[in-house]
Amino acid sequence: MIDLSKLTIQSAREALKKGEFTSRELTQASLDAIKEKDGGIHAFLDVFKGALAQADEADKKIAEGIDLPLLGIPLALKDNILVEGEKASAGSKILRDFVAPYSATATQKLRDAGAVILGHTNCDEFAMGSSTENSAYGPTKNPRDLSRVPGGSSGGSAAAVSAGMALGALGSDTGGSIRQPAAFTGVVGFKPTYGRVSRSGLIAMASSLDQIGPFTKSVSDAETIYEVLKGTDEMDSTTIAEDTYESDKSFKKVIGIPRSFVLGEGIDSEIKTNLEASIQKFKDLGYEVRDVELPHLKFALAVYYILMPAEVSSNLARFDGVRYGLHVGGANGIEDYFKTRGTGFGREVRRRIILGTYVLSSGYYDAYYGSALSAKRLITEELREAFKDVDFILTPTTPTPAFKFGEKTADPLSMYLADIFTVPANISGCPSLSIPSGFVDDLPLGICLTSDLGREDVLFKAGKEFLGEL
Ligand code: GLN
Repeated sequence: MIDLSKLTIQSAREALKKGEFTSRELTQASLDAIKEKDGGIHAFLDVFKGALAQADEADKKIAEGIDLPLLGIPLALKDNILVEGEKASAGSKILRDFVAPYSATATQKLRDAGAVILGHTNCDEFAMGSSTENSAYGPTKNPRDLSRVPGGSSGGSAAAVSAGMALGALGSDTGGSIRQPAAFTGVVGFKPTYGRVSRSGLIAMASSLDQIGPFTKSVSDAETIYEVLKGTDEMDSTTIAEDTYESDKSFKKVIGIPRSFVLGEGIDSEIKTNLEASIQKFKDLGYEVRDVELPHLKFALAVYYILMPAEVSSNLARFDGVRYGLHVGGANGIEDYFKTRGTGFGREVRRRIILGTYVLSSGYYDAYYGSALSAKRLITEELREAFKDVDFILTPTTPTPAFKFGEKTADPLSMYLADIFTVPANISGCPSLSIPSGFVDDLPLGICLTSDLGREDVLFKAGKEFLGEL
């Protein structure tokens, strides 16, 4: 019997190579775990029929002595990442019956690296949310406490890894949707530098902020998946080459703490205590800790909630009842459009489309969208300036531990605050890693490390040291 709860990708790869078990056995163990546990968690929207056949293919390659970074490893994908011939709904009713005509570049890269794709995981509709409560297919539960949310929007992927149903999973992170659920479920979550991973085949939310990244049990596993995913792609003109950001690749072991930002109002005292303990742990590991002043960081959330809905309103205009998914007929074309969108989109999606249309409207464009773009530049410059002195900025990942179902659904603003520490990395494009940092009342907590553009190496080094992986 394979115990998936302890197994990492790295240890599974070693066991597969030594012949301790086969990929078919490992994949079957995942499928059994899904059957046994997922009724109560609802991490998966779809389990693919072809998983065992992919495992057999992997076993054949292993027998031939072929070595690939993810050969034979069962992984799950968020429901907004396309897999050719499989449904992808992005958690929305409007795409209930949509079958992907092609695979995302990320999916293809995982396949080329030998991975077995188990299925699609639940998420907030079009990745908008912090709890999976906005999924049209019902919420996912946090495997650590079933009365609480797993975070969002990639809550299904986080829960699948946390509950030992998949050895790793992909999510997408536009404002924190990988790192926040990783923190809530006690796993590692990583958002790469903007442009390092192709978005081709990722159902778009806000294109200038979206990045695909991994959920894993260890930092080394996150690095392995990132190494497979990264690279330029002719299908995504925003992808960037390895040497885009020049750097001497120095690592000074210096951490920056934006104290006034992290110790502000609305942050639980347990979270502050946990951050202090994490700082101490880094000091014990030989890191120097400096306070940094980042006065514009406090505007990041406001900037995000202008830029993101603006892009959402334009990206989601394509769901017109003609080209994709749901079609609800009316008396004429315009009525078709209103009826399809009114029926197919949930409340949060409609709220953001309206908000986005408003901030882009001619009378308000300069006041909102224009100002937000200027603030984005200031935040990015400020962060990049700080990275001349420190290797990375350290904050909690979330201002509270996982909250109860229904606690924030009536008050969107309090839900939006869940992203306060994660959005600066999306606004600036910087890479950012959430790692487990302890518990409060049995609920996992995470800390968030953010480094300069192109400096993923710093995050992996420091993250591994913190978790004792070196
Ligand atoms: N929770 C944030 C939001 O609702 C982030 C979403 C995301 O990163 N996809 O917009």
